[in-house]
Amino acid sequence: MTTKNKQFFSILNENSIVNLLAYGPFIFIPSAVLILSFLMISASNESFDRNIKKVEQNLYNSRNKTLKTQVEFMVNHISYHKSITKDDMKNRVQKRVENAISIAHSLEKKYRNIKTQKEIQEIIIEVLRSMTWNYGESFIWIMDFNGVFYLAPEYLRHLEGTSIIDFKDSSGNEIIKEEIKICSNEGEGFLWDTFTRPSRNSDKQFHQLAFVKKFGLYDWYMGSSEYLDTATKRSDEVLLTSISKIDAMNSNYFYIVNRDGTLLLHSELPQLVGKNLKKLESGAAKRTFLMIEKALKNTKDGYITYNWYNSQTKQEEKKYTYLKEVPSSDWVVATGYYESSVQNELAKNSKELYETHNMKLTNLIYGSIFILLVSLVISYFVSRFIRKSFENYQVQITTKAKELKILNNSLESKVKQRTEQLFQATKDLEKIAKTDYLTKAHSRYSIMEILKHEIHRCNRHKTMLSVAMVDIDWFKNVNDVYGHDKGDFVLVEVVKLFMFNLRDIDYIGRYGGEEFLLLMPDTKKDGAKITIERMMKNISEHDFGLKTPLTISVGLVEYEDDESIDILLKRADTLLYESKENGRNLLTIE
Ligand code: GH3
Ligand code: MG
Ligand code: MG
Repeated sequence: MTTKNKQFFSILNENSIVNLLAYGPFIFIPSAVLILSFLMISASNESFDRNIKKVEQNLYNSRNKTLKTQVEFMVNHISYHKSITKDDMKNRVQKRVENAISIAHSLEKKYRNIKTQKEIQEIIIEVLRSMTWNYGESFIWIMDFNGVFYLAPEYLRHLEGTSIIDFKDSSGNEIIKEEIKICSNEGEGFLWDTFTRPSRNSDKQFHQLAFVKKFGLYDWYMGSSEYLDTATKRSDEVLLTSISKIDAMNSNYFYIVNRDGTLLLHSELPQLVGKNLKKLESGAAKRTFLMIEKALKNTKDGYITYNWYNSQTKQEEKKYTYLKEVPSSDWVVATGYYESSVQNELAKNSKELYETHNMKLTNLIYGSIFILLVSLVISYFVSRFIRKSFENYQVQITTKAKELKILNNSLESKVKQRTEQLFQATKDLEKIAKTDYLTKAHSRYSIMEILKHEIHRCNRHKTMLSVAMVDIDWFKNVNDVYGHDKGDFVLVEVVKLFMFNLRDIDYIGRYGGEEFLLLMPDTKKDGAKITIERMMKNISEHDFGLKTPLTISVGLVEYEDDESIDILLKRADTLLYESKENGRNLLTIE
């Protein structure tokens, strides 16, 4: 463990743990309330944001839908207007041809009888040559069914008299053949083609509508055509003026551009109307047109978004625009709305939502504060309860510890006392076990232990030991004649006489009823013999209060090296037996 850890754990002592547990609720309960409140508030905020987003999305959707409806309405309006223009143009062109044919008929009728057919034809051609419209752009032409030009426009006059049957317009259509086909099959009919303009020295192609009709008298047909743009130019001007008038009343103005880039209508950019936006150096108008061109590359309508100056707010803003092509025309109609207008509407629409949300939020905050306060109070009581419980617990533990200590002490002293008593009792028992109750000589058990010990000593120190097995002669008679108590008395007296004759270092043990074992350490059997003979003399001369003297028989041996106790005792017993056999009151030595 690092020293830092050690410090930490030492700080975390008992008290700090108690404090931590006691003040824990004070921290945890209000924290939980705070976290919960925070989560609820943020959830409410999120749901509000989602709602606002939804409202915003709906607004954009509805605005986009409106845009589409407005543009489509305008496109239909223009379309209708343009179709009328085309119808008018058709009528006009047809009328011109029919008029020319009727003039030709009346000329033929007039000169039929006066002039030759060729002359009449020349007259017709010259009369009709003067019939031109739109500054010479529209005229009458005459062709036979082999494609030979009889009457050509001024700029193609050199082709008169030659066949242009294989002529192809700029789209690659063999229009002369087509015209001949119409006239041969149906007598008359319309057709569209694309042509360069006689008045302009450029390769630019223009749509034109042609009407051809079989003349009937000669192998001729006549035709006239009108450029669509010429025809539509005037009506378009009328149309655009009427649209701009509608536009003036509308905040979402329309603007109309030609596919080639010419700005046709724009209430906010009158200075650019009629100009080709693509050819401008730079600027938002050019950028926007390029965007429109890109958007309509593969489709006929679409939404685009770009930045545009908002004249109402006087700043550049994001603008959403829907644009659509007018069918069978070059026109593109567009209108849009500024992001700010949606945002303003959103602000208006979401005011109520905001108010409800704010109210909800206020309630939530007040509710949270209230719950927080309540939780603080509860935490205070919980903490107090825990602290008190711990304190009580500590007091209880201290008391119990004291009680335990006292109990332990008393138990210890009791154990000590009992141990002493037990020690004493053991000692007493040992003494009892070691001492013969009657004679106070060593018990048989004790004398055997001493013998073992002495033998051990002899072996170790190479000392000597004499052992005498002693038995009182005819002792049974003493009991029989004088009674058992007298016998006991005799036994006690005999032991006293043993003691009297032996040294302090010698041992006397009661081996059997009236049989004794005498141990004489450091004594050779010769020395022991003298002591025992003196002892035998003492006993036989002692007055026990018996009619006859008391004698003892003895078997005496000296311990031999490494001899076992059993053999030693057996030897002594055998000698004692010999003494008995040989008449008693005898000491037998090997
Ligand atoms: P021996 O010469 O052959 O030894 O004859 P003895 O009578 O001494 O031997 P025996 O074995 O026949 O008798 C021993 C007697 O010792 C028998 C027993 O009643 C007696 N005796 C043994 N212990 C005690 C005792 O503690 N007190 C008394 N009063 N008599 C005892
Ligand atoms: Mg005996
Ligand atoms: Mg005996």
